[in-house]
Amino acid sequence: CQSSSINHEDLSRKDEFLVHGVSDTIVGVLGGGQLGRMLCQAASQMAIKVVILDPLESCPASALCYQHVVGSFDDSATVQNFAKRCGVLTVEIEHVDVATLEKLEQQGVDCHPKASTIRIIQDKYLQKAHFSKHGIPLPDFVEIDNFDSAKRAGDLFGYPLMIKSKRLAYDGRGNAVANNEEEISSSVAALGGYGRGLYVEKWAPFVKELAVIVARGRDNSISCYPVVETIHSDNICHIVKAPADVPWKIRNLATDVAKKAVKSLDGAGVFAVELFLTKDDQILLNEVAPRPHNSGHHTIESCFTSQYEQHLRAVIGLPLGDSSMKTPAAIMYNILGEEEGELGFNLAHQLIKKALNISGASVHWYDKPEMRKQRKMGHVTIVGSSMGMVEAQLKSLLGKEELRLE
Ligand code: ATP
Ligand code: MG
Ligand code: MG
Repeated sequence: CQSSSINHEDLSRKDEFLVHGVSDTIVGVLGGGQLGRMLCQAASQMAIKVVILDPLESCPASALCYQHVVGSFDDSATVQNFAKRCGVLTVEIEHVDVATLEKLEQQGVDCHPKASTIRIIQDKYLQKAHFSKHGIPLPDFVEIDNFDSAKRAGDLFGYPLMIKSKRLAYDGRGNAVANNEEEISSSVAALGGYGRGLYVEKWAPFVKELAVIVARGRDNSISCYPVVETIHSDNICHIVKAPADVPWKIRNLATDVAKKAVKSLDGAGVFAVELFLTKDDQILLNEVAPRPHNSGHHTIESCFTSQYEQHLRAVIGLPLGDSSMKTPAAIMYNILGEEEGELGFNLAHQLIKKALNISGASVHWYDKPEMRKQRKMGHVTIVGSSMGMVEAQLKSLLGKEELRLE
């Protein structure tokens, strides 16, 4: 074909013949939850093979991946065996056996992001110390290991005091608030005691929570997604609004802080940076996830390249895609378990049936085998021509005109 722009001499190069499609690299993912599932969905479009390691036979990613190895991503021998099948190893959860990843890297296994990054992120105290060392603004924090040190922190930071578990935290299950000195002991007990490894953070008096996803390719190219607003209830991300309704100065500042944070970490992939906006227009970092993130679910429908496709492109070494929005506005609503068991499934089902009738709404159901209270079971993204429009659609879906969207 004469109009073709493909150079046939290029095609005769030997390496071009070895790759028959987008990429022959087999991507191994530690974890097969909803994030792994959506990575598989993006991979299938480009016929990229994703192999999942997850202990749960019926984990959300299992039905959609190329192969599912049933086993623990926290077990050394299992992770080592798993790595043998993969061209590159990545994660959808940071609570993995990082010592084994470090060992595998020394043996030449390709891990993205780097094991050193996962080591920093999986311990929130270490993470805070790392970002503080790199000049990233964040709430004051200090380690506690007994009542006296917790009381001293309370005297120093004031109340309410945010007590956090250093490790294995997600969806706020690792956070406890002490409103005064008397509440320290019960909050610490709720987290499993000082022996679990705790630290405290000064309360961040935020007016909004924001998040920025930063993608970095293997060639160090960087692409940032638009700043979004995240709305939490009971410490769990519940609603995401894209783009965030903040002045351009704040958008730039949030993006700069996010980029600076990600540049202090090694490896390719997408990184989600959670931020607080204070009333005096300061941006403080909350935490970073070195993987696709809840605040980026909306990108599937609202951006030219979703965070899931972007993560695959990044870890494989393909060019990064366009991370800008292709719709003026998007709102994402997490479907959290309201009740245990069948009753919970019925309630979620009613919501999904309603969402299917809303123009611009896309329903995602993670197919988790068990329904539990406050568990992330699925989500709905609504795209439209303005934030006012998609907010109104969400309110009508939920039947809650008084819904707090700020
Ligand atoms: P995730 O599911 O995002 O991983 P997590 O369990 O790691 O959550 P954090 O992100 O540390 O928990 O905190 C959850 C939420 O608690 C935050 O989004 C914010 O609403 C609130 N929060 C956390 N730290 C502080 C703080 N220092 N001051 C005030 N609120 C805070
Ligand atoms: Mg977290
Ligand atoms: Mg968080």
